Amino acid sequence: MFKTEQDCINYLISLRWPNGFVCTQCGSMRYWKKSKGRFECQDCHKETTIINDTIFHKTTKPLLIWFHAIWWIVAQKNGVSAKGLQKILGLGSYQTAWTWLHKFRRLMVLNGRNKLEGTVEVDEVHVGGKTSGKRGRGAEGKSLVAVAVEVKGRKTGRVRLSKIPDASAKSLKSFIEQNIEPASTIVTDGWLSYSGLDKMGYDHKVQKAVVKEDDEEILPNVHRIASLLKRWLLGTHQSYLNKNKMGYYLDEYVFRYNRRTSNSRGLLFLRLLEQAVNTAPVTYDKVINENHGL
Ligand SMILES: [Zn+2]
Repeated sequence: MFKTEQDCINYLISLRWPNGFVCTQCGSMRYWKKSKGRFECQDCHKETTIINDTIFHKTTKPLLIWFHAIWWIVAQKNGVSAKGLQKILGLGSYQTAWTWLHKFRRLMVLNGRNKLEGTVEVDEVHVGGKTSGKRGRGAEGKSLVAVAVEVKGRKTGRVRLSKIPDASAKSLKSFIEQNIEPASTIVTDGWLSYSGLDKMGYDHKVQKAVVKEDDEEILPNVHRIASLLKRWLLGTHQSYLNKNKMGYYLDEYVFRYNRRTSNSRGLLFLRLLEQAVNTAPVTYDKVINENHGL
């Protein structure tokens, strides 16, 4: 579908302005077409291009390369590291590949996504650092991640992950409220922070382990997701993982996991490009300085 720059431009126009040009400054739909793909608003005379004020803002790289990059990250089941992307695209700089991947992660939380529902297991796990532990001390260098997984009989449905500052009632309940529909059944262990979920409109079921503090035998879905997540972080991103960026990696994992059975890579590609033209520019400085989680 995409052989030339113009193919890419036309595609972005169809996604961003499905009903025709809209001026970002005054909202007018009247325009003149200028050279080099520029549009001029007939009313306020602001000039713009299809990539202005999108994730591609001010890029000096051809859209064909951007499209190739986005295609590559949706086509690879487990995603791709910055080094891998640099190699595939033949980019001169590692920094560009790294920055692009961080920009793409910001596209992966789809607007208006639905909360989890039905029966949902919830737990918190430590991720990152040298060893994995739970709740106790010795968790330095690790991130605490809240995990919610829909249980569909013997299968898992969708997941949500979020880096949380601690395992307090406040942190966990706010995660639950943001990610799970009221009236759902929430299954947790006996951790005190989860008490009172009934009052929030949930049906709360507590599972108790036979051996105290050994959760492995209960909440099997949460534990499966946690170990897949850890393997993915180590396997794909290795030591390039920055703890302050953990939230973005979690967003990518959720995006991938929730679409693991989607056979249409083309549809995922389209969804990311849709988000790309509707997402404000993210500068390199912003990628470096903006943290996610905590
Ligand atoms: Zn205008």
